[in-house]
Amino acid sequence: MIKRILIVHSGGTIGMRPGKNGYAPDPGFRLALENMGALKAEGMPLWDMVETESLLDSSNMTVSDWNEIGIIIAESYESYDGFVVLHGTDTMAYTASALSFMLEGLAKPVILTGSQIPLCELRSDGRDNLITSMLIAGAGKLKEVAIYFAGELLRGNRSMKYSADGLIAFSSPNYPVLAEAGISINYNEKMMLSPVPEAFRLQTFKEVPIGVIKVFPGIQFELFESIMTESLKGIVVETFGAGNIPAGESSALLPIIKKAFDNGTVLIVCSQCPQGTVSLGAYETSSALKTAGAVSGRDITTEAAVAKLYYLFSKYEDKELVKEGMEKNLRGEITV
Ligand code: ASP
Repeated sequence: MIKRILIVHSGGTIGMRPGKNGYAPDPGFRLALENMGALKAEGMPLWDMVETESLLDSSNMTVSDWNEIGIIIAESYESYDGFVVLHGTDTMAYTASALSFMLEGLAKPVILTGSQIPLCELRSDGRDNLITSMLIAGAGKLKEVAIYFAGELLRGNRSMKYSADGLIAFSSPNYPVLAEAGISINYNEKMMLSPVPEAFRLQTFKEVPIGVIKVFPGIQFELFESIMTESLKGIVVETFGAGNIPAGESSALLPIIKKAFDNGTVLIVCSQCPQGTVSLGAYETSSALKTAGAVSGRDITTEAAVAKLYYLFSKYEDKELVKEGMEKNLRGEITV
């Protein structure tokens, strides 16, 4: 049976054209897709395209833009076999992570893609990214949110933008690729998520006040104390190595973390190393975090930790339920 795919165009370089002030959305983009021979070729799924209200450089995306994409997918969920979201590369890993949580009970492919060079330019990488994403979405093997870029299909909530100017712009350092597109497309089906026996449902996100702190040698934690108020719901702390922080006698961090925890803020510990896992308690410099009530993010990316905090705080009022959820593997985002 011929598959039907909905292309959701949200902005990004792929649909831009150079203008007086740099790249800007190309008004002729829809026509360019309609005229693209490959998208009408035999073997290509049937497709329709919708655009989000504003086509954004993804650096400008907010929680409400994630919700808008989620709502488009949810409203068309029954009418299509899969979704290809055209998106800017800068925050694609955040949106992919957000959608992976937001689309509860997902049993269809949702593939985010884009390009480093606009589709209208000669050397664009957008052509293969779009065509292969469409073929993978139409193949019906994937049933989760993924990013397809430069020959690789990656789990969305395991991905990070890795290169600002290379065509291989994404990597997934803690999880194997879900498919590799060389001469043929080889699927790594064993590593794909199986849909849960649960009806599809959209959980939109609230604009929850959260923060990210990256520790560095000489960090003056006192400067962060003023933001650690009761209104801050969650903080992702990007630590050294396996979860280590400068935590000597003179460090102001622990009392601040303790205060944040007592205020009801959920603290998630991630690593600044793209590969490997946080292991709280492996060193003295990390056991203190554990004692102060922080949750180990294990091998989660900062992008997924941020999205997961938004998700859980949108779903639950109770901080204990949020903490519990952060420790669980919900969509293949952590290795437990
Ligand atoms: N700044 C652009 C964006 O993220 C970059 C890109 O699309 O590659 O929207």
